[in-house]
Amino acid sequence: MVRAAVLPAVGAPLEVTGIALPDPGPGRVRVRLAAAGVCHSDLSLSDGTMRVPVPAVLGHEGAGTVVAVGEDVTGVAPGDQVVLNWAPACGRCHACSLGEVWLCANALNGASEVYAHRADDGSGLHPGLNVAAFAEETVVPAHCLLPLPDGIPLTDAALLGCAVLTGYGAVVHSARVRAGETVAVHGVGGVGLAALQAARIAGAERIVAVDVSPAKEELARAAGATDYLIASATTAREIRALTGGTGVDAAIECVGRAATIRAAWDSTRRGGRTTVVGIGGKDQQVTFNALEIFHWGRTLSGCVYGNADPARDLPVLAGHVRAGRLDLGALVTERIGLDGIPAAFGNMLAGKGGRALVVF
Ligand SMILES: [Zn+2]
Ligand SMILES: [Zn+2]
Repeated sequence: MVRAAVLPAVGAPLEVTGIALPDPGPGRVRVRLAAAGVCHSDLSLSDGTMRVPVPAVLGHEGAGTVVAVGEDVTGVAPGDQVVLNWAPACGRCHACSLGEVWLCANALNGASEVYAHRADDGSGLHPGLNVAAFAEETVVPAHCLLPLPDGIPLTDAALLGCAVLTGYGAVVHSARVRAGETVAVHGVGGVGLAALQAARIAGAERIVAVDVSPAKEELARAAGATDYLIASATTAREIRALTGGTGVDAAIECVGRAATIRAAWDSTRRGGRTTVVGIGGKDQQVTFNALEIFHWGRTLSGCVYGNADPARDLPVLAGHVRAGRLDLGALVTERIGLDGIPAAFGNMLAGKGGRALVVF
């Protein structure tokens, strides 16, 4: 039996309880978690903004050590240190055939399976976004594992699995920020902090961070922000003023609210790019008039998992970490246990802090 944070039903509070994991079957691997980041997507799953079968063990940003492998597993062995990939690509669907593995149609098929059972009442549990990282141990398909790159502490490596791939990918793959450009990052949580560091790595000259909380200025500046603004109805105008009235070349929206998406779009120059990373609800309606779409010549893009190919990008990110350009520890504002996840959700809703990291 291992301890896990279980979502009993959509909208219900998480329960930390014992779960029974089966021995890994063919093609499956048992992993002891070292750490798991608390991502906004976990909150979105728990409140029903995003849907997965329940009851479920959430947590999808994790790293740990292989403790057992099932039949037919050849790529990893007990003792190997791994990063979890919550969106493993099938390699066969239309998106995969185009190389857009982050849009794989089959990436979340595993969420509908029962992978473990509650120890108290024996009820079946689903593995949230495939990997069920809010638990001391998990059992996952072998293709959800990526080797831990050399020189990266295992605990910090958890962050690579979602926040960093997403924030870095939004800047590098989606917005394609080039040296000398100006960038605005809206929302300074875990993903926003990764986006700020990515903009700095890309050589952006001016990097404006925007958040509702004055308390995050120091975090944002440490991550590369050259300017810090408190989000308001005049955010776009303030950003344009900072850039001589022109607007930034690229805006990264990490909030998922209509007003923020609109402010991000309005803050870009003519021809500017806005990348929406935040996951909003269906109630968030963003409106544009036809003339402004023509006049401004701007681009608005959605961005899933940073348009990243984890197998390709993880070694690149690790190189940035080893060279001292990417500081994983700087994303973490709180180290907690499984019992601390509900409070971490509360902090997210209140716009407080960067990443909370569950350390086992
Ligand atoms: Zn995530
Ligand atoms: Zn696929």
